[in-house]
Amino acid sequence: MDAIHWIDPHAAVSGTRKGCKSTQLYLLVRVWISHQFFVLANVGAYFGILNEEHKGIEDSWCSRMRYNQHKRTAREQGVWLHHGGIYMEFPQSVELIDVGPRDGLQNEPIPISLTQKKELILRLAQAGYKRIETASFVHPKWVPQMADAEAVAEYCNELGLTYLALTPNERGLERAMAAQVPQVAVFIGASSPFNQKNINRTTDEALHEVASVFAKAKANGVFVRGYVSTAFSCPYQGKVSFPEVQHVVDRFVQLGADEIDIGDTDGHANPRGVYERFARLQELYPQTVFVAHFHDTWKMALANTLAALQAGIRKFDGSVGGLGGCPYSPGASGNVATEDLVRMFTEMGVDTGLSLPAVKEAAQFATSLSSRLNTCSANGG
Ligand SMILES: [Zn+2]
Repeated sequence: MDAIHWIDPHAAVSGTRKGCKSTQLYLLVRVWISHQFFVLANVGAYFGILNEEHKGIEDSWCSRMRYNQHKRTAREQGVWLHHGGIYMEFPQSVELIDVGPRDGLQNEPIPISLTQKKELILRLAQAGYKRIETASFVHPKWVPQMADAEAVAEYCNELGLTYLALTPNERGLERAMAAQVPQVAVFIGASSPFNQKNINRTTDEALHEVASVFAKAKANGVFVRGYVSTAFSCPYQGKVSFPEVQHVVDRFVQLGADEIDIGDTDGHANPRGVYERFARLQELYPQTVFVAHFHDTWKMALANTLAALQAGIRKFDGSVGGLGGCPYSPGASGNVATEDLVRMFTEMGVDTGLSLPAVKEAAQFATSLSSRLNTCSANGG
């Protein structure tokens, strides 16, 4: 760095005011020296980060900003353990959202009665869930299991629950608002083949359509969750790239999503991919609340949850009893079981606000409703 081109307002002003060239020269030298220290400190910090935190990760997004954010979040929210240069974050609490009554049951081939659904929702509410995804306002022809969405919403209102309902289009949103649903969700796959197969639209066509749903919901003060399905892999195209995910996230952010749920719809994500993708998303969208949604196809959902936690995610979906599955993805299993999440977080000393015995009881009941626990949701999971 050439000191001649360096302008320090204090040096210039004080030098001019005093009219003393030696003072001006002295101040310029002082600024130059302090600048060299600044450069050295930053170079040191940069290499320190590579050694300590991002060893083995080659992506260019590994940055000092991320490192500092990591450190701040950890200090604010919990404990930061350090051993041999490896850091792990354990926050004081996380939020678990049960999506069993919707994502879990919607593809169940045997009809589930309204009474059974109410019983499941009641048990979840009694276990301490603050938010439950309970219904989907889609045409009954496409998802017969969700035909009683209005009645389910009425029951949730009676219980005073904060609950979510899927509203794939404007008609669904109108029904949901008429039923006084407090939070709605829209979904779009990051993979275009997935969208073509499920809703007969390309990703861009689907994004165009949901704009009016967002606008109407926001105008009426309704909380909107944006689901990015197939955010890691897709049953039709295989691996899904980060730009494909970012494309949908970007639009959701522009449309004013209150939270964005990143879904491993067919359960093929791995912990490293999860850590890198969530870390990068948070770096790109620091004001956005992200939720992690894992399916347990390869039995990696808990490992993926821990990886997302390390990347700074504090909200996780699960499905009581591990309900759910995907008819278009052979062998794909349901959502990560919320009782497993509760057990893991409780053992780790991370508060979920839930009673494990009560969640386990709800899980037993949920399992009794399911004719199969081996099938991902084709409609928004
Ligand atoms: Zn799902």
